[in-house]
Amino acid sequence: MNTPLPPRPSPEPTVDSLPYWTGLREHRLCLQQCAACGTTRHYPRPLCATCFSSAVTWINAQGTGEVHSWTVAHHAFHPAFKSELPYTLVTVDLPEGVRILAPFRGDSADLRLGLPVRLIFEEILPELTLPAFIRG
Ligand SMILES: [Zn+2]
Repeated sequence: MNTPLPPRPSPEPTVDSLPYWTGLREHRLCLQQCAACGTTRHYPRPLCATCFSSAVTWINAQGTGEVHSWTVAHHAFHPAFKSELPYTLVTVDLPEGVRILAPFRGDSADLRLGLPVRLIFEEILPELTLPAFIRG
């Protein structure tokens, strides 16, 4: 007997992260930049870790980067992702100075440290678009 899978967990945008989620729907990766000291940060959060200012502007990432690390998941952390196993997650150093975690779409055997990758956008649900990476 198969038990139906629970629904995929979805993000709940906050006042600080809403521009990030909205940007993804418009196929833009938006990063917060401190309006006081210029430090770029990711993930979205209310305060700058460098100067503790809450003043923020948003910039669009170029959509390029280099592999910092990766892992191939063989066990789902949530039952909704079981059907996607195995899947590869990469941490990518963006030229904007931040690191992002996202799925890698391609053969994980191709991965190596410093590999150039390119951002793509995956429309998961009508209201949810998520970033992923392919070889650059
Ligand atoms: Zn700052």
